[in-house]
Amino acid sequence: MGAKHYYIETYGCQMNVADSELVNAILAERGYERVENAEDADAILMNTCSVRENAETRIYGRIGAFKPMKRATATVVGVLGCMAERLRDELVERHGVDVVVGPDEYRRLPDYLEAAFRGEKAVGVKLSRTETYEDLAPLRENGVSAWIPIARGCDRFCSYCVVPYTRGRERSRSFTSILEEAKELARSGYREITLLGQNVNAYAEGGADFADLLAACADVAPPLRVRFATSHPSDFSERILQTIAERRNVCAYLHLPVQSGSNRVLELMNRGYTIERYLDIVDRARELSPDIAITTDVIAGFPTETEEDHRATLEVFRRVRYDGAYMFRYSPRPESKAARMDDDVPEETKKRRLQEIIDLQRTLSEENNRAWIGAERAVLVEGASKKSDERLSGRTDDNKLVVFPKPSNVAAGDYVLLRITDATSATLFGEGARKIEAEAAFREDGSAKRRAI
Ligand code: SF4
Repeated sequence: MGAKHYYIETYGCQMNVADSELVNAILAERGYERVENAEDADAILMNTCSVRENAETRIYGRIGAFKPMKRATATVVGVLGCMAERLRDELVERHGVDVVVGPDEYRRLPDYLEAAFRGEKAVGVKLSRTETYEDLAPLRENGVSAWIPIARGCDRFCSYCVVPYTRGRERSRSFTSILEEAKELARSGYREITLLGQNVNAYAEGGADFADLLAACADVAPPLRVRFATSHPSDFSERILQTIAERRNVCAYLHLPVQSGSNRVLELMNRGYTIERYLDIVDRARELSPDIAITTDVIAGFPTETEEDHRATLEVFRRVRYDGAYMFRYSPRPESKAARMDDDVPEETKKRRLQEIIDLQRTLSEENNRAWIGAERAVLVEGASKKSDERLSGRTDDNKLVVFPKPSNVAAGDYVLLRITDATSATLFGEGARKIEAEAAFREDGSAKRRAI
């Protein structure tokens, strides 16, 4: 019997992108071949997100779209990830899905698929306190930048969030397995790694914490560039900020979700910090790394949020001057604690408040980006720009997207030094790109941090 073909779509966070690379490796190990079109697949898989209602609504649309293929051929349809974990058998009984596999059961995915090909319904949603898949090598696509999950699950239980219910309890991978993976990636030509977790600051293994891991990953294979996401202000240590400031190849970029500018709302969200503590971290980060870029997550319209709370959020945005933000309207998530609260902020008010935050952030992002016009920046090239093959795009170490004319001798994975000539809220534009060595990138880059070390 020939190889089985599968098609996979990935939704949601970077953790899901990394999990799909794991799923690719697990299926390839069992002789499955990946196809680019659903029509050519024996199994259609969706790796899903449950963080907001519309993320799930989109999947119901996809399931509907695949129904005709199921009827026409023996194709099986599978839902993976957080929605699988949250909805379980309901996806089989009410939506005709054949395979439902949660984030901790991917090792058994081929078995569940075999069961579905035999016409059985297959649901695997056990959460594990130990599973980290650290012995499996993900099948990556990118070649320049790689995700390295360092921990799975989350123990923070923010009141609006379903992740602790869909991804289970926090567990860290072994220190050595992460370092080995970083070394192997550098050996195989990767230029950048991102240490990944719902809350990387909670990493703890064998007496080591996240600051230890970050320093070790930076030292294991310089000039491999090191990023990390996502941080939680409550578990943020001074040593992490020191490590960012002291290591050339640790990126001067921090994603630090604030969620609200009001201490009253932060308490209701069970975030575990005050806005004063949050701003102390921001100020200390900038003291140690002057040009560090900071982005955030924010929710508009959390239950009982007043205009005053909303103004406090806007005030934090003006105070921090974020380089970017992921901004959302509150939507109650079943199972989450906040879902038991009255969702009393009218949708129109949520929309208006969210739009005010978006408009403010767009202005701040543009002003921050325009401040780089005239400076020389080092850029790690990721590939052709989305809009033109004549142009390349890449990122600075503070995670700014840069688009520039393609020099003949430059390709993905190379570093270039160029002059910033223009900027929008989302993109920097450069000219005069010339290829440089990675080490030079850390020395020559125009950001204060680089000059400082
Ligand atoms: S830290 Fe909070 S928001 Fe983030 S995954 Fe954990 S519970 Fe959810």
